[in-house]
Amino acid sequence: SLVYFVLIMKKVQTGQVIEFYSNSCQVKTNFGEFSCIAIKNVVVGDFVKFEIIQDSKHLQGKIIKIQDRISKLSKRDGSKDKLFAANITHVGIINTPKPKTSTEFIDKWILKSILSKIEPFIINNKIDIDTEEEYTDKLNIYKDIDIPIINISAKYGDNIEELTNYLKNKCVLFVGNSGAGKSTLSSRIIGRELKTNTLSNNQGTHTTSISSLYETEDNTKIIDSPGMRDVELASYKSEEIIKGFKEILQSSKNCKFNDCNHINNDGCNIITNLANGEISESRYNNFIKFRNKQ
Ligand code: GDP
Ligand code: ZN
Repeated sequence: SLVYFVLIMKKVQTGQVIEFYSNSCQVKTNFGEFSCIAIKNVVVGDFVKFEIIQDSKHLQGKIIKIQDRISKLSKRDGSKDKLFAANITHVGIINTPKPKTSTEFIDKWILKSILSKIEPFIINNKIDIDTEEEYTDKLNIYKDIDIPIINISAKYGDNIEELTNYLKNKCVLFVGNSGAGKSTLSSRIIGRELKTNTLSNNQGTHTTSISSLYETEDNTKIIDSPGMRDVELASYKSEEIIKGFKEILQSSKNCKFNDCNHINNDGCNIITNLANGEISESRYNNFIKFRNKQ
């Protein structure tokens, strides 16, 4: 049957990279999954064209082309930015009362998402835990700037349906501090435990999987990438930072001077909006902090 299968298959196939190892990857197509030899810069989430190579034992692919990406995300690897995933449409920023998520963490991920052409939203997890009023105040800051917020309990399952509905036909990366519930949430949505970082390849040995893409029955894709650390601001230009703060960017258009420093210049509209409460203090403080690279 394999012979017949090979005969009806075109030599060049297209698919999406769902597992990535150091020099090979797993590609999902309408005909099933193929182990492929990767080419430079291929990452999980990439749509690729590959050629089928047939050796005596098994079918293998050789990637020949990476299709245009709608987005790409990188993470810090030493002193360089290294691409780790492509075609993510949404970043779900997990906010929790315990461990307490800082506005800095949220604002960094909103910034990184926007600069990476990805839509950020907030997953407010652990709603089963009682919270203080300041917790609601923090969430209101994001409600005011139209960031979608979905309240859930990953552990007990509250409101998971609202989240899975929201995620239909999207490709999402969940980000959160350690202990925020990233693995609990991913397992609940995928319906099983996530694979560990080691997987057998077809020689039976263990290889480290750098990143994986999981697909649910709702056509939701979830990117899992171990070692996704803090957002590194060093790679962003000072003048790019304001794009992650759209209410501040909007307000800056009415500053008296084009080169306004938005701190103590005459006629700064941002300072006016800060004083009248239209711009939140924490958003403003993070904007200045990020712009100064801390
Ligand atoms: P990760 O480090 O982000 O992957 O977090 P985990 O998924 O390992 O969760 C960390 C801890 O938080 C575990 O003890 C979970 O049981 C707990 N946790 C996750 N979601 C919830 C929730 O909705 N409510 C409560 N009370 N605890 C949760
Ligand atoms: Zn200004």
